[in-house]
Amino acid sequence: MKITEQTVSNYIFSNYPNDSTHFSQKGHEQVVYFQDEATGLQAIVAIHDTTLGPAVGGLRFFEYQDERDALKDVLRLSRGMTYKSSIAGLDFGGGKAVLMKKKGMELTEALLRKYGTFIERLGGDYITAPDYNTTMEHMVDIAKSTRHVIGLPVTLGGSGDPSEHTAYGVYIAMKATAKKTFGTDSLAGKKIGIAGIGKVGYSLAKLLCQEQAIVYVTDICSKRLQAITEVCKVEVVAAERLYSWPLDIYAPCALGATLNSATIPMLNCSIVVGSANNQLADQDRDGKLLLKRGIIYAPDFLANAGGLINAVTELEPKSQDLVKKRIELLYIICLDVLDKAAKTFRPTQEVAQEIAIARIQSIKNAQLGR
Ligand code: NAD
Repeated sequence: MKITEQTVSNYIFSNYPNDSTHFSQKGHEQVVYFQDEATGLQAIVAIHDTTLGPAVGGLRFFEYQDERDALKDVLRLSRGMTYKSSIAGLDFGGGKAVLMKKKGMELTEALLRKYGTFIERLGGDYITAPDYNTTMEHMVDIAKSTRHVIGLPVTLGGSGDPSEHTAYGVYIAMKATAKKTFGTDSLAGKKIGIAGIGKVGYSLAKLLCQEQAIVYVTDICSKRLQAITEVCKVEVVAAERLYSWPLDIYAPCALGATLNSATIPMLNCSIVVGSANNQLADQDRDGKLLLKRGIIYAPDFLANAGGLINAVTELEPKSQDLVKKRIELLYIICLDVLDKAAKTFRPTQEVAQEIAIARIQSIKNAQLGR
């Protein structure tokens, strides 16, 4: 089967069965639809929560089935950004933007400038950044009409590509989860399978190989597989076989919703830690399924917070040394989540979410004088 964005879209949305488009259910503060006839721009910006600071989140350029799917996506992703910022101890809120792609549509400078003028109108409540199908170069064009953009190239004073930092955070979360599960955080000799060897997966594989882990990789793109085999000693496994491959750690680093009622029973590992956003197709059901199977899961929004920690240095400048230390703090946060979850026999994602929400709620309570 030829994999197109439409196939991916169908896959993702059929796998998030319980997502709704009711903003109030997920507590969003503001959801805005922008349209410009001249450039063909149609975008939705969702600001989930700004209690801790302005909402930060990427701009996704994607061929959705319809506006409803775009809305579902932006609502879900923006809420995840709130949790990510909060649990990582950042003073930012959660937001996201989706730009609806139509056949043959290109991200022209005119379109990106227009998008920038819309973002500027939000007065800084939402700060846009690169995400799926948008790059640092696109941010340069957006920056021509708004100040509220991050993820610019280092040569222009930006923080550059976040992927290496995201990979480092996943690696740190993997070590914490290994410590909890195996009693040691050394990954040497551990069998680790990476699904998706794109920007994050590639950097992660390199870190794991440096530590003498036994690394298996899969991707639907042969070029990506070739690129990693040229620099690391990894074994390539067919995409559908990696789920049931005998592993210590399974690392989903491709799309979301790959942990679901069909794939979780197939897993043959002790731990799941990866970079993909929204790995659990149904958070409630699939968190419990993993727990029932005795598989320790490092919550996605915690494990993949490294890129965000680096990107916000464009707003709050910090040295690379401090960024590294801050990402390494994810180790302690992750252990705390795993301990609390183990003590209460609850899914780790649920516990992590509770910790993230509690931080926000304490600020809200203080504001209300409670
Ligand atoms: P990417 O597009 O560079 O890589 C994704 C890889 O997954 C590609 O090589 C693609 O071919 C592969 N892939 C797609 N479908 C697949 C399938 N069914 N089986 C196997 N491989 C498949 O993206 P990335 O920047 O590396 O991000 C990976 C994931 O991590 C995404 O879900 C992204 O949202 C998330 N994430 C990334 C960052 C970051 O800093 N880049 C930060 C947070 C979260």
